[in-house]
Amino acid sequence: MQEIQFPNGRIRLFIKRDDLLHPQISGNKWRKMKYNLQEMHKQNKKTLLTFGGAFSNHIAAAAAAGKVYGFETVGIIRGEELDASNATLSFAEENGMHLKFVSRTDYRRKNDADFREDLKKEFGAFYMLPEGGTNCFALPGCAEIIDEIDAEISADYYCVAAGTGGTIAGMISGLKQGRILGFSALKGDFLQGEVEGLLSNCGADSAKQFSINTDYHFGGYAKFKPALIEFMNDFKSQFGIQLDPIYTGKMFFGIFDLVEKGYFEEGSTVVAVHTGGLQGIEGFRARYPKSKLL
Ligand SMILES: *Cc1c(COP(=O)(O)O)cnc(C)c1O
Repeated sequence: MQEIQFPNGRIRLFIKRDDLLHPQISGNKWRKMKYNLQEMHKQNKKTLLTFGGAFSNHIAAAAAAGKVYGFETVGIIRGEELDASNATLSFAEENGMHLKFVSRTDYRRKNDADFREDLKKEFGAFYMLPEGGTNCFALPGCAEIIDEIDAEISADYYCVAAGTGGTIAGMISGLKQGRILGFSALKGDFLQGEVEGLLSNCGADSAKQFSINTDYHFGGYAKFKPALIEFMNDFKSQFGIQLDPIYTGKMFFGIFDLVEKGYFEEGSTVVAVHTGGLQGIEGFRARYPKSKLL
């Protein structure tokens, strides 16, 4: 954990550096995979099959985990028009992942039984990890984020970026005191329901202090505005920490803005989780060279 000197000193801000957890299996994707890999082992499966977009942090993490721990990986990639030459997919292939590109229409059928049967015919028995690595086995791994923070400090607020909501749901399941503030990387209000659904499906106690802020999505998933990039570049030069534009950049922008607006009581201890995701930056810069992301 790392304290950064917050400009106006109104709060104490600590960063839980999960971006440093593992050189290839970044941040929360590692947390979410941990107990899934144990379960896969228990089921005696030798292949992990999972889903994601062409720049997915989860796809990269799953491929790297397969290489490190010696199991086969299959990635079902959304969008058949894509080639495998972007940084994320090249990395996945270099780590031995077999990539299968499917149309957006087929991708939407990924949870259907007949689609799964077809995959079984093609790839044999596999352990299926949903998109983003989010399922019930993801929760205990993410609850450990809370345990590790609590072992060091008593936090008033735990902040985390949210996509599928698996990471925040796991943290909520492990919360013992304080409150959790999620920052949605997507436009819309559906995440609250998504997280509550996950908690109840997984038998976790949801009667905890948490809320999901939807004010800092910058136009939606993987969308951005110059103000976000400027903030991230400033953050990097001030604190020496690289953020990613899809999740952690938006969360820190939100935290700084909320401090400005007096959201946190004076003297609060705020811990923000750096969930990683840095592998996506190369692809982001290649797609948006004019964004000037450092
Ligand atoms: C995937 C990801 C998230 C979102 O996690 P969810 O469990 O899907 O909510 C947050 N930050 C980073 C860096 C990620 O890669």
